[in-house]
Amino acid sequence: MTDENTLPYDRTMLTKAIQYSSDIHKIELRNEDFLKQFDIEIMKNQKVSFIDYDTNKIFTNDGSMIAYDKVLVATGGTPVRPPIDGVSGNNIFTWRNVNDL
Ligand SMILES: Cc1cc2nc3c(=O)[nH]c(=O)nc-3n(C[C@H](O)[C@H](O)[C@H](O)COP(=O)(O)OP(=O)(O)OC[C@H]3O[C@@H](n4cnc5c(N)ncnc54)[C@H](O)[C@@H]3O)c2cc1C
Repeated sequence: MTDENTLPYDRTMLTKAIQYSSDIHKIELRNEDFLKQFDIEIMKNQKVSFIDYDTNKIFTNDGSMIAYDKVLVATGGTPVRPPIDGVSGNNIFTWRNVNDL
């Protein structure tokens, strides 16, 4: 499950190969065919808001509930602006995902 609108991709390539910005498929970790072959479902645009570890249920922002046997939480990080004068200007950007390109 991801709150992004893409299949999982190699985030490190965002800053290494600017030409990929026009074709996200080039940096996907696995393509649709692979996922289909191994019966892997990626739930896109789903933001987890709550995990109930007692009843093994995941709740998302749109009100959906998903029951699970095992869950791995790997939410990554968010960019942090260091407390340095000048880093909050309009021409200073953070870079986290494809939408920031
Ligand atoms: C531009 C850029 C360049 C980088 N370059 C390098 C590099 O050269 N070398 C290097 O070692 N590292 C680099 N990194 C860091 C590297 O990308 C991360 O360390 C790595 O992606 C972490 O992997 P992850 O799977 O833990 O988290 P992520 O790749 O961040 O994946 C976390 C996923 O969880 C999803 N998520 C988060 N919260 C929720 C929620 N509530 N509900 C549903 N889904 C959610 C996110 O949308 C995302 O899809 C770079 C990072 C960036 C942004």
